[in-house]
Amino acid sequence: MPLVSTPAIVLATLRYGETSKIVRLATREHGIQSAIAKGALRPRSRYGAALQVLSEGAAQYIAKEGRELHTLTAFDVTHLRVGIAGQLDRYAAAAAMSEVMLRLAPAAPHAESFDVMAHALAMLEAIPTEAVESYGLRALWQLVSSLGFAPALAACARDGSALPATGTVRFSLTEGGALCHACAHDRATIELPRQALDDLAALLSPDDDLPFLDARHLAAHRRLLARWVRTHLAEAAELPALEAWQQRNWFPA
Ligand SMILES: [Zn+2]
Repeated sequence: MPLVSTPAIVLATLRYGETSKIVRLATREHGIQSAIAKGALRPRSRYGAALQVLSEGAAQYIAKEGRELHTLTAFDVTHLRVGIAGQLDRYAAAAAMSEVMLRLAPAAPHAESFDVMAHALAMLEAIPTEAVESYGLRALWQLVSSLGFAPALAACARDGSALPATGTVRFSLTEGGALCHACAHDRATIELPRQALDDLAALLSPDDDLPFLDARHLAAHRRLLARWVRTHLAEAAELPALEAWQQRNWFPA
């Protein structure tokens, strides 16, 4: 049974029996993996407080051939992300990202999504409060894109034709992005103001400034992203963290 050592982020934890914890990990070298941390809930566990959701570090586990649950042997934490855990907007975005990773990332090497996630957690911890919401949108769109679900925004998703430069642009969840006039005909689409499409493109371009979005536009962008994720999940999955992030329902309306 090979011993695996890899950078990892704790995406979810589950109590197991009296003293153990099962952790779901995003690993840089092996994708999504589950491991049991025996004794992790004992008072003097060697894991200490390291095995918290969003913790990042070097995981070591014994990989069991053909088995889904490995045995964790060490987790050397490098970042506990306490700056995220204490603030609801930051935490909601990070939790939605964890959920998307768990649902969409493969149990196979996928360094790109791991790196997007790790970078986003560092940013979510450090970014000024007023930018957290728009940055959360950027981070989630980048994660979804790194997992192979980037929307077409520069040209028609079906035939590459030019999109309307003004007015409204029609956007299809199932066709994979914006559509030209001809392709949008007879298809179920969402009508987006041209500005909203440009803002979406800016969110997806890490080198662009974050677009300024007021509360109404932030809410519209969150809705669009949540619908996009649901459309591209294989099953009609429940996504409680994404739902909570989309609705921001921890604040009274
Ligand atoms: Zn077209």
